[in-house]
Amino acid sequence: MRALSDLSANELAEAELNIQEQYDGYKNRKLKLDMSRGKPSPEQLDLSMPMLDTVQSSGLLNAADGTDLRNYGGIDGIPEAKALFARLLEVDSKEIIVGGNSSLNLMHDTIARAMIHGVYGSETPWGKLTVVKFLCPSPGYDRHFAICELFNIEMIVIDMLDDGPDMDTIERLVREDDSIKGIWCVPKYSNPEGITYSDEIVDRLAAMPAKAADFRIFWDDAYMVHHLTDRPDPLKNMLAACKAAGNADRVFVFASTSKITFPGSGVAVMAASVANVGYIRKQLSIQTIGPDKINQLRHVRFFPDLEQIAAHMNRHAAIIKPKFDTVLNKLETELGGKQLASWKKPGGGYFISLNTLDGCAQAVISLAAEAGVTLTQAGATYPYGKDPNDRNIRIAPTFPSLEELETAIEVLCLCIQLVSIRKLRAEITAS
Ligand code: PMP
Repeated sequence: MRALSDLSANELAEAELNIQEQYDGYKNRKLKLDMSRGKPSPEQLDLSMPMLDTVQSSGLLNAADGTDLRNYGGIDGIPEAKALFARLLEVDSKEIIVGGNSSLNLMHDTIARAMIHGVYGSETPWGKLTVVKFLCPSPGYDRHFAICELFNIEMIVIDMLDDGPDMDTIERLVREDDSIKGIWCVPKYSNPEGITYSDEIVDRLAAMPAKAADFRIFWDDAYMVHHLTDRPDPLKNMLAACKAAGNADRVFVFASTSKITFPGSGVAVMAASVANVGYIRKQLSIQTIGPDKINQLRHVRFFPDLEQIAAHMNRHAAIIKPKFDTVLNKLETELGGKQLASWKKPGGGYFISLNTLDGCAQAVISLAAEAGVTLTQAGATYPYGKDPNDRNIRIAPTFPSLEELETAIEVLCLCIQLVSIRKLRAEITAS
């Protein structure tokens, strides 16, 4: 396969005509394909339907300790849900708060409370400071960045490297600037690149000196059990690493069963040091009398132990692995060797991250949209929606059918070629 940059001006013009023709063919089909958000497919959701039968009106709705779960109470979760999540996150039950249905909600509220009251150990509520900054390894999760924007927290882009964020830059910034109060991390099968942080990165984050004594790591372990292979990426335990480094209060761990059972009807959880948990529990008890304990019961009955979760996740993988493979194979056949794009092969998670040539992503996404293929907005994976290189595209393969995916990726590949050829031809004309 020849790289486009090796083609003559005439060959490029010919290639453009040919690809334009193919693109027009797809456009005339009036497609309506959506690869914009990482949602489980209906077949995946079917896997959890039996969970709804674990709680019946004729059955007992008591927790193991006898508490009647139909009533108020249980601010930080029912004991067996705490125990299950403690095992999953490899922490102590005392370090767990089981929340409502959304980990994003827990993250938002954690920041909101920090702005209004500070975190455990803060001298000043963050919102009373003239400026609050967060480090944002990017590309990253757009909804994390949206929370920062909402609270006027200044975001600093940190490059993602192959084994996690650029630690040299992080260590330097955090050591020097006490307005940096936090960092967003999706440490396993990151959204969107599928990168898992190495042990060294975990240790450096846990141990680095921070000028802000109330600096926090927002450790969003959304994809901790979402493997696509039978050799899961290992991830070092961040709470344990923080304790070992003498910074036990540095991390807030978040997770949920959204993409294990039902998004929107799952169970969210937070883990942190006993001091952090005590501080937050007190504030939570003003906000609510307690979360949905019956949903927690459904989950612990459906997943009596970690083996059940692992088996369930294997069933998810059996459905979505062929979709990831379809995307990756298509990218390879259509774009391999052309040096127009690079992409990562994730070992888990929900996304494939693709980089076009610099300056092309926005145009590619618009062109795909014109042909009826919706992708995540250009720039969404960067703070303020601004990709400094305009090159990152997040592909979410789980929801569409295999057939839809094939077509959508064919269109995407044509768009990438078309935009790249136009860019190269414009460069030739300009030179
Ligand atoms: N964190 C990450 C990294 C995610 O990708 C998602 C879902 N797209 C969430 C959090 C949302 O989780 P929840 O449904 O628990 O709010």
